[in-house]
Order: sequence, then structure tokens, then C-alpha cells
Amino acid sequence: MPLDLRTNEWQQESSAAKLWTSRPDGTVQCHLSPRNCVIKEGRAGFCRVRVNRGGELQTLNYGKSVAMTEESIETEAVYHFSPGARILSMGNIGCMMNCDYCHNWKTSQAVHVTDDTVHKYTPEQVVESALERGINVISWTYNDPVVWHEFVLDTASLAREHGIINLYKSAFFISLEGATELADVIDIFSLSLKSMDPAFYRRLTKGRLEPVLEATEYVFRRGRHVEVSNLVVTDANDTAEDAQKVAEWVVNALSPETPLHFVRFHPDYKYTQVGRTPIDRLERARQVALDTGIKYCYLGNVYDHPATHSYCPNCNAKVVERYGLVARPTGLDEEARCRSCQTKLPFVMVQKPKAAELPIQEVPADRIKERQQLWRGDVKAAHVEIDNHDDVARMVRVVVDGGGHDGEVIREVPIMAKSRFRVIVCKSFGDDRGVRVLAPEGVEVTCYEVFDRAHFPTLPAETAVTESDSVPLPLFVGMPSTRGAADAEV
Ligand code: SF4
Repeated sequence: MPLDLRTNEWQQESSAAKLWTSRPDGTVQCHLSPRNCVIKEGRAGFCRVRVNRGGELQTLNYGKSVAMTEESIETEAVYHFSPGARILSMGNIGCMMNCDYCHNWKTSQAVHVTDDTVHKYTPEQVVESALERGINVISWTYNDPVVWHEFVLDTASLAREHGIINLYKSAFFISLEGATELADVIDIFSLSLKSMDPAFYRRLTKGRLEPVLEATEYVFRRGRHVEVSNLVVTDANDTAEDAQKVAEWVVNALSPETPLHFVRFHPDYKYTQVGRTPIDRLERARQVALDTGIKYCYLGNVYDHPATHSYCPNCNAKVVERYGLVARPTGLDEEARCRSCQTKLPFVMVQKPKAAELPIQEVPADRIKERQQLWRGDVKAAHVEIDNHDDVARMVRVVVDGGGHDGEVIREVPIMAKSRFRVIVCKSFGDDRGVRVLAPEGVEVTCYEVFDRAHFPTLPAETAVTESDSVPLPLFVGMPSTRGAADAEV
């Protein structure tokens, strides 16, 4: 059943948008993304989160977010900035594109977003949450942060004042005006280049290639840390020629030292007629990129593969070992020098901040409950949502289940009184079969299966479990009617 844009509580309140002009006929034109939507009174743009109210452009999603989640920086396809760093991921609602194979369609396509997924945060709350957990990177991610422009700018500026680094993970179909404002406050851009074929963009993403290239080059020239990802979609953009065009552009427009990630696709949304990207096509893409001059090329969404590690180009020592979303930078020193041959490598290393001292009250062992979450097939990670109903701060611990590291603590999560928080946990070794979450009574734990990185799951594992371990839930069940909900000229 299609959702009506007016029936959700999250769509009621709106706040002033940036980057628009009014027109004599009462319509407004938005300049945030290159769609330049012209929007009539009472209607929304293509993204469905920017609306014309009373002849002014307003945003529906300021401060409205999916649950904030602690992850590792590798989740965002950032491998050369503080490997293994913990980040605070923030995602919102809507998107300026509509990719047929979107892995986050449940939140990126606003028509599917229901109130139970939406949380409200102020910039101060986001920054405070990072500081009290000792996290010094905030990641703007998931659906696409472009359409969250005003909240990203406000929060990122405040975060900077507190020494926090901002990471932006995006398809970057954005106007140059928007990119210019972002480059003032964002430190790391992890940008997703879908293809070098303009027809691919038009047909499968409803975006355009040229503005993406222009904005990416712009933030790179502004001296920001840039890494590029290319989701390799089975039978759509997975040939050697596709890989070569992407690699050539990165080498010539950015730098041979810009990390390039070829990322494995899983069937999702409207693109379920093919299987996951065959590993040999990803390996071929990587070889083509290396032959084209790319110095650091990685495979994403694959476990147990040599192309997930970083090697010293001088002595070939492994400087960062990765397993899934876990990074162990044991071959790099604090100055990003290879510990074997002392060569300086293009990694940015930042010091780990100290977490605030929280008034945690531990409880005796007989008041700790255990929640087991097992890996299955391609599900090798989970969001653990922790709800502290108690009126004192508590500690939740996540331990390895099975294998040689059974019982080892892999995450300690402080949780303030009467609050909720999510953390990602993942398969961390070759032989572990899952995790056990140890939580005091009064603290509720819900697990959400994560299919691949940068995927925000919306259904608890109990609801999502099916016979299949190769397609995530929920499944897209049809094309909702969009008539009357949005009225954009694009
Ligand atoms: S899609 Fe949204 S962000 Fe892009 S121009 Fe239209 S209203 Fe603005």
C-alpha cells in the first residue's frame, strides 16, 4: 500500500532550507542537487524531503534521523584514514537519486519511511553523544546526506569546534554550490561513483554523471581526503572496460594514490533478477585498475580476501590487515610509516580520543542476560540496538561466540540512563560463528542483521530471518504510486 506523504508525523514539521530561489509564479527552485527541482506550493521535490510551503523552500528532515550507530571507519569504505577508528554514523530520509539496486531503499525513498524508523536529534545531542563515547569521527551516511544539507552543515560545524572529524559518504549528485559549502566543514569524502557511462546513470540511478565528477574533483582540489567506491553490479557495470574507465578517471582527475574500492553488490530493491557480483569479476576489475596506475585498490563486501588488506608499495609488507569490518593496522606506526621499511605511506593517522568518564553501575553476574546472534551465509554483521530502561548508566559487553576466540570481549558499550544506542558488530575471525551480547536486567537488546557494509537495517533479526541468506529483508514488493505526492519538474 503506498504511503501518503501527509500521514506520517515526521512529515509535519519543517524548517528553512538553503540554496533555493523563488519564482514570480509562486513556485520555488531548489539548487541543492543538479535536478534543480521547480516545486509548486504544497508539493515536494524529487527527494520528497524538500517542500514548497507558503512560497518558501522548507526541509522535512532537519534533525530527523535513523538511529545513530557506532561503526568502524571501514564500514564507510574509508581505508586510508585512521584504520580501525570508531565512528558515529548518522543517516536520514530521502535521496536525490533512485537507483534500481539501492541497498538502503527503505530509508532513501521517503515514501517508504514510517515514523518508527525516525528519531529526532539536535546538533548538540549528536556531538555530545560522540564526545561521551570517545568517538572523534561523525559519518554522514546511509540514504544520502546530500538531502540533509542544513542539518549536516550545522552539526558538522559544531563538531569541528570540539575537534571532531566529519566523514561524508555519498553518491555526490550535488550542485557545486552545495559541494562548496560542504568542503568548508567536511574532512573526509567517501564518494560512490556508479559508472563512467552517462547512460548507466540515467537508466539505473535517475541521476547524471557529469555533476558527480565535477563535485568530486572540486572537493579533491580543496585538499579533502577522498576515497572512491564503485559498486560493481552484476551484468550492469562489471566488465573490464567499465573498470578501466573508472580507474582512468581516478588516476587522471584525482590521483593514482586515491584509494579505489570495487564493492560487491547484492540483489536488492528493484534489481533482483541477478545474483551477487561474482568474485572473479571484482578481482578482474582490481587487476585492470592496478594496471591502469591505481596504487591502492581494494575489494569491498568480501571477507577473507587478500585484496582487503593494505600493503607497503616499497617492501610489500602487510601494513593493515582487515577481516570484514575489522582493521588491524599493526604494520603502521603513528606517523603512517611502514614498520618494516620505514617508508612514509599515504595514510592519515589521528590519535584516539579518550572517552568521558561515565557513572556506570555494574551489576552482579546473576543479573546479566545473554542474547546470541549467529552469522549465516552472507549475513556476517549485525546492529545491536541497546535500550536502557533503567535510571542509571549501564555497561553492555559483546563477546565472540565460538572458535578459538570464544568469550573474548570485542565491544564494551556504555549506555546512559533511559537512552537508546546502536553499535555494529561483525564476524571478526575465520572461525567465529556469532556473538553473545551480555546486558544487565533492565537493558533491552534487539539485533538487526546487516547484509553488507553501509546498509542500515530496519527490521529486527527475528522478523527478518528467512530461508534465504543471500537477499536481505524487507523485500520491495512493488512500485508505489507517486501521483499527487511530489510535483517536481526535473
Ligand atoms: S531532488 Fe531534492 S535536493 Fe535535489 S533539487 Fe530536487 S528538491 Fe532539491
